Amino acid sequence: MKIRNIWMTLVVLFLTCHCEGTPPKLIEKPAIKANQPLNIILLIGDGMGLSQLSSSFYFSNQLPNFARFKTIGLSNVIAANSKITDSAAGATSFASGIKTFNGAIGVDMDKQPVENIVELLSKENYQTGLIATSSITHATPASFYAHVASRDWEEQIAAQMATSPIDFFAGGGLKFFQNRSDGKNILDLLKTNGFEVHTDHLEKEIDGSMRHAFLLGEEDMPKMIEGRGNFLQESTQKALNYFEEKASPFFLMVEGSQIDWGGHDNDAEYLITELLDFDQMVGSVLDYAEKKGNTLVIVTADHETGGFTLSAKVTGQNSKGEDEHDYNVIVPTFSTAGHSASLIPVLAFGPQSAQFSGFYQNSDIYHKIQVALNH
Ligand code: MG
Ligand code: ZN
Repeated sequence: MKIRNIWMTLVVLFLTCHCEGTPPKLIEKPAIKANQPLNIILLIGDGMGLSQLSSSFYFSNQLPNFARFKTIGLSNVIAANSKITDSAAGATSFASGIKTFNGAIGVDMDKQPVENIVELLSKENYQTGLIATSSITHATPASFYAHVASRDWEEQIAAQMATSPIDFFAGGGLKFFQNRSDGKNILDLLKTNGFEVHTDHLEKEIDGSMRHAFLLGEEDMPKMIEGRGNFLQESTQKALNYFEEKASPFFLMVEGSQIDWGGHDNDAEYLITELLDFDQMVGSVLDYAEKKGNTLVIVTADHETGGFTLSAKVTGQNSKGEDEHDYNVIVPTFSTAGHSASLIPVLAFGPQSAQFSGFYQNSDIYHKIQVALNH
């Protein structure tokens, strides 16, 4: 008994001595270790399942930028309360590392706020940015700054943007910031909190000492087939230039929001033009990351939309009444106007990208980023 007590004391002493030299946690961010990324860029193609991604190999004259990734994984995007997720639960899994209910924006099953990666990294002096081709208050981007029990509460979500740590954002959704049902003008609040608000276009030069809000559509940004032009790539480049000037690490989330809407509409042209636009933006982000060498890039989706299939053209029927196909002609088809339960591709590039190979949950993407950052 006595001997054991002595041993216990020695163990305690050893542990105490061992700990004394350790500095208090996170007062200062530890120095970056070899093969640890400085910057994190998360690119989300809403509704981009494997068939959607595959279409970029068949409906473009050039090899897609997706093909430049060497590390590929598959994630299970099941929500906490249903086998098929929506964008709110899916994005909350990426942003906060939890599984929650469909419709939830940054809250858990008890509707309690959960810290997101933007809030966490801002405390470590990271710059943060969000870009979407939907309204910036839509479920996917909202999950990176807001905490509400329903994705439909877009006026509440807009108000939470003004008090969030976000430094740069671009997308639609102006109507949720002004001319609101509660009479508040959130644009004024944004300005009070250090934002320069832009509602016309992406200015060439922006003031590096300000935060920036680009609200370029009343609600959604236009579709590609209705003339959105190069908004996604240009705003992403603008964010990267802005962060570069700051010389501090950054987290950037960019969403190709309308790939999902092409799926819901069962409109292959809408879907594929949005997907190819997303791939263009992915290419310019990869160019940046290849040049810098210190940036982890993750491309994924929240779920698949439309039950999209690249099937063969039916040319007729044989004598038994079975369909005959031309295997040289792809006809995009859909099986649903909703989401599906397919596993979702994850592509990763840069320091710590190897973590993203294999099978895992969508919420693990958050935790893998934390491991990459040595948290
Ligand atoms: Mg979305
Ligand atoms: Zn959807």
